[in-house]
Amino acid sequence: MRLSTLFGRTLRDAPSEAENVAHQLVLRAGLARPLQAGSYALLPLGMRVLRRIEAIMHEEMARIGVQEFRTPVVQSSELWEQTGRYDEYGPLMLRFADRADRPLIFAPTHEEAVAGLARREILSHRQMPVIVYQIHTKYRDEIRARGGMMRMREFTMLDAYSLDSDAEGLDDAYAKVDDAFQHILTRCGIRFVAVEAATGEMGGREAREYTVLSAVGEDTVVVCPNGDYAANLEIAVSDAPEAGKVVDAAPIEEVATPNCTTITEVAGYLNVPEAGTAKAVFFDTPEHGLVFVVIRGDLEVNELKLRAALGLSNLAPASTEQIVASGAVPGYASPLGVRGALVVADRSIVGAGPLVAGANREGYHLRNVVYGRDWEAARVVDVTTVQKGEPCIRCGAPLRLERGIEVGHIFKLGTRYTEAIGATFLDANGEAQPIVMGSYGLGLERILQVIVEQHHDERGIIWPQAVTPLHLQLLRIGKSEGVRAASDTLYEELAQAGFHVLYDDRDETAGVKFNDADLIGLPFRLVVSERLLNEEAVELKPRTGEAARVPRGQVIEVLREALAL
Ligand code: ATP
Ligand code: MG
Repeated sequence: MRLSTLFGRTLRDAPSEAENVAHQLVLRAGLARPLQAGSYALLPLGMRVLRRIEAIMHEEMARIGVQEFRTPVVQSSELWEQTGRYDEYGPLMLRFADRADRPLIFAPTHEEAVAGLARREILSHRQMPVIVYQIHTKYRDEIRARGGMMRMREFTMLDAYSLDSDAEGLDDAYAKVDDAFQHILTRCGIRFVAVEAATGEMGGREAREYTVLSAVGEDTVVVCPNGDYAANLEIAVSDAPEAGKVVDAAPIEEVATPNCTTITEVAGYLNVPEAGTAKAVFFDTPEHGLVFVVIRGDLEVNELKLRAALGLSNLAPASTEQIVASGAVPGYASPLGVRGALVVADRSIVGAGPLVAGANREGYHLRNVVYGRDWEAARVVDVTTVQKGEPCIRCGAPLRLERGIEVGHIFKLGTRYTEAIGATFLDANGEAQPIVMGSYGLGLERILQVIVEQHHDERGIIWPQAVTPLHLQLLRIGKSEGVRAASDTLYEELAQAGFHVLYDDRDETAGVKFNDADLIGLPFRLVVSERLLNEEAVELKPRTGEAARVPRGQVIEVLREALAL
């Protein structure tokens, strides 16, 4: 490729919209350009990197015996209505209609399509296990596309789906894809952590994310310094804090707290810390009706953890009528004497010592309420968000909180989609059972940008050899006929020998060419100049190493060795 006619130029300065270093380098090196808010065009250099990432993905998928397939990106709403996600997915899903006014969507993910296909293709347990995958375009109408190619509306995903006859089959498929995904990321040169994750709108039992620790990440992950535990903060747990001694507390005492309906007001009025109060939070749930959570006043209920702890499919704030019907007084609610609600205590309450709690009487609170002495909950749960320094559940070491970028996600879905769509198979006894599904995704542009984030210096990108767009950049320094001819000849020879060369044949100054070579960041830079010609040599420099003279006649051999080709 000749730099003079390469589609996509390098930029000396980062455009002002670039939000982080990797985004700046992607734009400056001419890998991609925004075409409209949230959508990027990949320029030839960026496209070559994407193709190399894809090649690694195809190899790793083949290694675990997965089959490539493809589903349409524009889909009818029908299957989505059957699973309920036509409504649930909300505005993130792009919706439109065809000329006959039939509702269509641009698929943000393809579980419905796969379950729909499986309904027709899989009749017997003998046809499984199956894992299929594609590398294709997804569209999500993200509220705020940001960070360059980190969060886009249109992006490319490797999405894979496993179909099994039972939970053990799903466990196998999940382990296989997990292994392949970790290989893919490692081969792309990415350092990441595999973290336990929320199953989110996908539903299902278990999920794992591959997260790149980064100050510009949007996620927060909890990591054990010994590598014993890592989880997304949304669902992370820690070891229970030491339960305080059950103190010999004074008996309960009712105190007037006029117009104090919030924790801050009560704590201020009674002059106690917020951590010295118990807070009541009410939820309406499909499984247990009204749920009354009691949590230490300074903490918040993490709804995802509450859902997981109680096995809830959903939850919403309870209405005032519901709260009143349970015998609680809103603003002054107390776990003492409540009926008609499932009372759960966060573990922060247990052994916390005497607390201020509501009195279930307008304008009054109780002092010296002790869990275990004065009341007990139906369940003690852990529904608070982990704080830095809490002990690791596996080794007790103080946990760290880090920012991270999610580059991949795998889910054990179970039968949610196949049941809704009627994708069943006949088991060994001839009975119809729903197919057990898993779903797995890696984002290609996000991976590309993360590679840039993890492989650069102040001069530009430093491509790992496994994903570099080309092998080397050939620089013609000087405009004489001799230099031109020698450079052209070398370019041809290198191409003949199978090297992918970016040939800087422009009439720019040496300074500009050296800077661009560092910015684009191919593994090697090869210089032809008047002076070197006289010495019958060229200069070879690894992107991060020292320049060295190489006799002209040995260039190809030396490069073969250096690039292990
Ligand atoms: P996020 O939480 O970042 O919105 P997600 O959890 O919705 O992502 P998944 O449905 O798990 O994403 O998609 C699998 C992978 O696809 C992600 O791990 C990520 O690499 C990629 N991906 C998802 N959304 C985007 C996006 N808007 N832009 C670029 N890549 C994306
Ligand atoms: Mg995800």
